[in-house]
Amino acid sequence: ATPMSIMVSVGRAAQMGVLVRNGEALQTASKITTVVLDKTGTVTQGSPEVTEILLLDKNICELSLLEDVASLEQHSEHPLASAIMTKAKQQSITLKEPDSFANVQGKGITGFIAGRHYAVGNMGLMQQAGLGGKLDADIDGNVDGISGYQQQVAEFASKGQTPVFVAVDKVLVAIISIADPIKADAAEAVQAMKNQGLKVVLLTGDNPLTAQAVADKVGIDSVFAQVLPEQKQQKVLELQQAGEVVAMVGDGINDAPALMSADVGIAMGSGTEVAIESADFTLLSARLIVINDTLALARASMTNIK
Ligand code: ADP
Ligand code: MG
Repeated sequence: ATPMSIMVSVGRAAQMGVLVRNGEALQTASKITTVVLDKTGTVTQGSPEVTEILLLDKNICELSLLEDVASLEQHSEHPLASAIMTKAKQQSITLKEPDSFANVQGKGITGFIAGRHYAVGNMGLMQQAGLGGKLDADIDGNVDGISGYQQQVAEFASKGQTPVFVAVDKVLVAIISIADPIKADAAEAVQAMKNQGLKVVLLTGDNPLTAQAVADKVGIDSVFAQVLPEQKQQKVLELQQAGEVVAMVGDGINDAPALMSADVGIAMGSGTEVAIESADFTLLSARLIVINDTLALARASMTNIK
């Protein structure tokens, strides 16, 4: 395409609420065969809320647990952390300063409060915290010999909610279930992409059952779950090696490497700065259908100038 026709397309994209950082990427966008969607904040609204707190230890009270967990989560930037802090605020809990805090990439957080060690996060973190043996038949859908709480976990996850495990001094004491509503136009947008002959893939750090439940609700056939940030990028490279021309859509810090490796990186405007800086396009609207509109615009502008 000529520089002039690219400029015209960039202007049209802007009218649709799509900021184009890189004009060349518009040309590449016309050749996309696979659209990879991050789950949290891309397919879902990214405004998660605590729906249930399941206490597994009779000696623990919900308020003091929430106080400790929220006090740790105030140091995390993850959307799940803000859900837990909102819940604490609703209960008028005053947060305190933990003695230590650590982020465990793609898994959760750990830290000490009043001499007790906390691990708050997914199954992978629990295994890392030495709880593996007790949790083996976990949320991957393996229901062999599951105990009461594992059934609960499966129930949360099959509703598309994320179970957050809380261990204190290596004992699992609670499960906090967190729901992040799916965007209203997600199913329609996925269908529109499929109608264009595009393959649609869901890529998430969340657990497989939750990911599958969300994929089912929006009509995505291909799901890669419990993927660490480096693995998100690796997945994009694998798809490219298999001959796909890949658009990656994401909003988080953990999506940045994948956004850079994709043929076209698309960031949600509501996303983190790192994601926006790593992307070729930024969507000012939260609506997913805009992705389809952008790819259609790219194809149309390339055929027009042939
Ligand atoms: P995603 O944003 O796709 O869920 P992440 O890599 O950010 O991917 O996180 C993967 C998983 O790790 C989350 O689904 C959650 O289970 C767990 N996790 C990450 N950060 C936190 C946190 N601050 N508190 C609790 N759990 C967390
Ligand atoms: Mg995300």
